[in-house]
Amino acid sequence: SEMKKRTSSIDISSLTDNAIKVLGRRYLKRDRDGNALETPSQMFKRVADTIAAADRIFNDQADTAGLSDQFYRMMTALEFLPNSPTLMNAGRELGQLSACFVLPVGDSMEDIFDAVKFTALIHKSGGGTGFSFSRLRPANDVVLTTTGISSGPISFMRVFDVATETIKQGGTRRGANMGILRVDHPDIMNFIMCKADKHQLNNFNISVGLTEVFMAAVEADQDYDLVNPRDGQVIGTLNARKVFDRIVAQAWENGEPGIVFLDRLNRDNPTPHIGVIESTNPCGEQPLLPYESCNLGSINLGKMVINGEVNWKRLRDVVNLAVHFLDNVVEINQYPLPIIAEMTFGNRKIGLGVMGWADMLIQLGIPYNSDRALELAEEVMKFINTEGHDASHALAKKRGPFPNFKESLYDKQGKAPIRNATVTTIAPTGTISIIANASSGVEPLFAVSYIRQVMDNDILLEINPFFEAMAKERGFYSKELMRKIAERGTIRDLDEVPQDIQAVFVTAHDISPEVHIGMQAAFQKYTDNAVSKTVNFAHTATIDDVAKVFRLAYQLDCKGVTIYRDGSRDNQVLSTGKER
Ligand code: ADP
Repeated sequence: SEMKKRTSSIDISSLTDNAIKVLGRRYLKRDRDGNALETPSQMFKRVADTIAAADRIFNDQADTAGLSDQFYRMMTALEFLPNSPTLMNAGRELGQLSACFVLPVGDSMEDIFDAVKFTALIHKSGGGTGFSFSRLRPANDVVLTTTGISSGPISFMRVFDVATETIKQGGTRRGANMGILRVDHPDIMNFIMCKADKHQLNNFNISVGLTEVFMAAVEADQDYDLVNPRDGQVIGTLNARKVFDRIVAQAWENGEPGIVFLDRLNRDNPTPHIGVIESTNPCGEQPLLPYESCNLGSINLGKMVINGEVNWKRLRDVVNLAVHFLDNVVEINQYPLPIIAEMTFGNRKIGLGVMGWADMLIQLGIPYNSDRALELAEEVMKFINTEGHDASHALAKKRGPFPNFKESLYDKQGKAPIRNATVTTIAPTGTISIIANASSGVEPLFAVSYIRQVMDNDILLEINPFFEAMAKERGFYSKELMRKIAERGTIRDLDEVPQDIQAVFVTAHDISPEVHIGMQAAFQKYTDNAVSKTVNFAHTATIDDVAKVFRLAYQLDCKGVTIYRDGSRDNQVLSTGKER
């Protein structure tokens, strides 16, 4: 295409047709008729210049041109990409650069509809919102001012859902929400079932907020208390195992609800003196205080391999640059509300993570479902986390620590001043991995060749680039074979593909749920925030299989679990088989 010719003539190494399509649709500046006003290369330049310019706030002699050049090279080499809003909005009028927000929802009409309004403003700018609805009094509880009865959290969630549906994000993207309800809320059973009707709450991911008290009651097969948040009164009890089983059965049925371990989020809350964590962003990887926002960025591990080994040196440089980049984003972001600016400046949280993990393993010849892969996951993430924290300590020396540092966990543990209250998060990288032509987040390959539905209605056929290259090199490449693989979904037991290649190109469905959760736990061990990961189950998996994985996630110190059983939801984003 014309665009491709233009981009490759300026030094972007390897944007695929799919990447160019995605960028053209939502990321590039366009005129009123929808014509692109910039090339992908100019987009990266716009972002690099804008983010580098923030250095002048701290040092009016700063070499922003030199820094912009480094940012530009890191992005165009597809070694690092910030979250979508930064690519879309940096250097443009909107200027809203964060993917993640959490808003409080108080127990009054005023508070609820304020939150709906704030949600609209955030969605318009490309951000996603998370909420806890746990403060809302249960359905059928008293309402004094009208002497009526209350609608309850789930009815109000529908208001947020409809608002989200209506906004469609001012030409960027449709909004996304996380809804969390504490397991001790009186409406919990209705919440667990609230997405059983597949037409309801489609703009929400939902998760049950589990507590340590609840998990202990599950273990001991005991009852636990339900508390009315309006007055703190215990209004009944439920059997913990029955509730746990209901959650599991529903997740088995259609992938939701997920679970999140609330007390763990708060154990690792770096600023308990500022507030309590009650929710995460929509995909679950970023716990935040009410009114906090966070910007994410991901290193493409597929580009961090040299001569069959991890390129630790380049990885270190990219981590340093990325932390600098993300701290600058905090500084120049145009926040949708003054209170969000205030909360975000107080903690300056950033979320540096990875994509292309499966691509790294493939290049190293390590099967995703091997002990070596789990070991390397820890090694790589420990390295990124340590280097990332060092970079943030170094920034604190020049720019000062985050303003809430005093009394924070870091301060209480006697640690050196640090610029960012959190540094690492592992995002799903749903769209930026398409731009980088990388495997998403820390997921295994979904398939070696597959049909992908992006951004509501685009359908793309994709062949894993490493597989394609290797098939050509080893002489078993053919168009027919690629099509056959897309239809089958796996290369397992396919005679045309050599055994050693079958072992390395292992896909999500060939990997046991235990390995999925083990990988999540390995990355979580060295991640400040949380890890976005979907545990894939075969269609034939049992409810018991799901229960086992939920328990395992708890034992392995994960912060939450999202599962998906193949074929259990109609509108799968990724699918194999050409009938879709
Ligand atoms: P990307 O690849 O576009 O940078 P990710 O898939 O990594 O985004 O998602 C990171 C976070 O971005 C999500 O947890 C959520 O907070 C936000 N997000 C993702 N998709 C959307 C969307 N369609 N609308 C609003 N926010 C979104």
